[in-house]
Amino acid sequence: MSKPTPARRRTSRRVLGHESAPAPPLRPADGERVARRRGDAASRQPETRETAEAALRESEERYALAARAANDGLWDWNLATGRVYYSPRWKAMVGLGEDAPAETLDVWLERVHPDDAARLRADLDAHLAGESDHFECEFRIRHRDGSHLWVLARGLAVFDEGRRAVRMAGSQADVTKRKLAEERLLHDAFHDALTGLPNRALFTDRVNRSLWRARRREEYRFAVVLLDLDRVKLINDSLGHLAGDRLLVAIARRITQCLRAADSAARIGGDAFAVLLDDLGDPSDAIRAVSRLQQAIHDPISIGVEEVYTTASIGIAFYGDRYDAAEDMLRDADTAMDAAQAAGGARYQIFDRRMHERAVARLQIESALRRAVEREEFRAYYQPVVSLETGRLAGFEALLRWEHPERGIVEPGEFIPIAEETGLIHRLGRWILQEACGQMARWSREIEGAAPLTLSVNLSGRQIVEADLVAWVIELLEETGLEPGRLSLEITESAVMQDAETAGERLAELRALGIGISIDDFGTGYSSLSYLHRLPLTALKIDRTFVWAMGPGARETQICQGIVALALGLGLTVIAEGIETEEQRQRLRELRCGYGQGYLFAKPLPAADIAALLRSGESW
Ligand code: C2E
Ligand code: MG
Ligand code: MG
Repeated sequence: MSKPTPARRRTSRRVLGHESAPAPPLRPADGERVARRRGDAASRQPETRETAEAALRESEERYALAARAANDGLWDWNLATGRVYYSPRWKAMVGLGEDAPAETLDVWLERVHPDDAARLRADLDAHLAGESDHFECEFRIRHRDGSHLWVLARGLAVFDEGRRAVRMAGSQADVTKRKLAEERLLHDAFHDALTGLPNRALFTDRVNRSLWRARRREEYRFAVVLLDLDRVKLINDSLGHLAGDRLLVAIARRITQCLRAADSAARIGGDAFAVLLDDLGDPSDAIRAVSRLQQAIHDPISIGVEEVYTTASIGIAFYGDRYDAAEDMLRDADTAMDAAQAAGGARYQIFDRRMHERAVARLQIESALRRAVEREEFRAYYQPVVSLETGRLAGFEALLRWEHPERGIVEPGEFIPIAEETGLIHRLGRWILQEACGQMARWSREIEGAAPLTLSVNLSGRQIVEADLVAWVIELLEETGLEPGRLSLEITESAVMQDAETAGERLAELRALGIGISIDDFGTGYSSLSYLHRLPLTALKIDRTFVWAMGPGARETQICQGIVALALGLGLTVIAEGIETEEQRQRLRELRCGYGQGYLFAKPLPAADIAALLRSGESW
């Protein structure tokens, strides 16, 4: 809602000021009226003085009515005398009574917020100097009660023949509501709703500002710190999301309290925060600040009746000339944070060049891996599983290999973790399952003695939670004709624990089809034994590190013994991995471990070699 601004620049023959204004009921500022009258007069050419005056009065009333409807205050400044007329509404806006003496420009200017005063003055001056068509400025003005309101002032100056401004008049509208709504929107766009901290966009902007400053001031140093809370998911899962949210809010407050005024914190992801440590004297200042942050995060937090503990994996990137953009610095801090996480969390890592090189190498593998999927460069290898008692072949474990066009065979340790992170594991995992089941069914049909053999395939944690996994497996078994009882799926303890509930349900469905479920690398993950017996398991696979560490009286022998006893107690099959020596095999047999696989028997082999091995009827 705005009233019309006074029309063209014209000199006025009327005396300026409110003294000459006609009496109320509706009293607009004279300036508006003059401009209007001129406009009307020009278009209508009144014949007599009476009709002209009547037209004038009508126009004045119309304009005054409009101004009142718009609820705008009006002002009219005579530059010759320095006197200003303020309309009652103008005065009311700033808390002045209708009769309060207010006749100078200072009544206005001294109320303007100090941060806005210079801009307002500049806009006024520009217009009076003839540099702008009209005057328009938004600023804060102080009410008598001390509060500020946002107003939009508009106006137009009148010039004499010498192009000197002699008068200026205009309106003032209260735009506080709109301004606050705008500020709110702006705030929301750049802040995290839960914690009220700046979000990634605003944080990135601040880092860019620091980079800009660093380019100009040689001694200026700063650091970007990324913090990823280590246990939020666990807290979410056990105490609920509301508790998780309260934890995040509490952590956000603690982080903020740790910082100096110049530093800033942001929430840049679910459980990730970022801190900009500004104007550091020395890199060790950053380490001290990070230690304070660690301590603050570490202290127990009460949520309802619960006390929860959390830690953070922290990555630090220091400003160096190599940075052109905030994104690069954030990326490096992120790489360092990943390293802290990989090292077990609850620690910080400072980014260095080698880390960057590793990250780049990883990125290269990632894109090569995507290409490899398109070009079908994957192969299924099979490692025999042998009965330790009879030495006879019991089945195979299918293991993925990547036949790289230049590097040759690449082992899964190098690409499975990346495939899991990037989601490629979904396609890879299905591919090998399909390939191996198909192969096994063909061998059973074509080679004598192959029909009772079992097939074990690894299933990644990401695959277990696939919604259509079970339906897909059913279809696969139908398609290939492999009996479900001959197929086992291997999962690790940590894969199950990632989402124990879903994993439990999914595994039960698979088990119900008749498929076996083995825990792979048993003993290396952190599993809760109480949970294990609730899973529909059929086998445990003893991790090879225990097998290798076995010796007379060694602790690992006892661990193996313990695992075998536990498995047998639960009615599960036990398979030892990584058997390399006759001695190991002997010892495991004594422990009553049923099956084994390892280089002693055979390495993982391509399908053609396995076919030959099957035909030879080899045993060990
Ligand atoms: P895993 O499932 O525990 O597989 C056993 C690993 O031990 C295989 O490594 C195998 O080659 C190796 N191994 C077997 N016997 C011996 C031995 O006597 N000495 C030594 N030094 N090593 C032995 P590989 O093929 O490199 O696979 C490593 C891991 O990659 C696997 O561990 C499994 O976790 C994962 N993986 C392999 N294929 C797949 C797959 O198709 N899907 C998924 N999700 N993971 C896979
Ligand atoms: Mg396995
Ligand atoms: Mg294993």
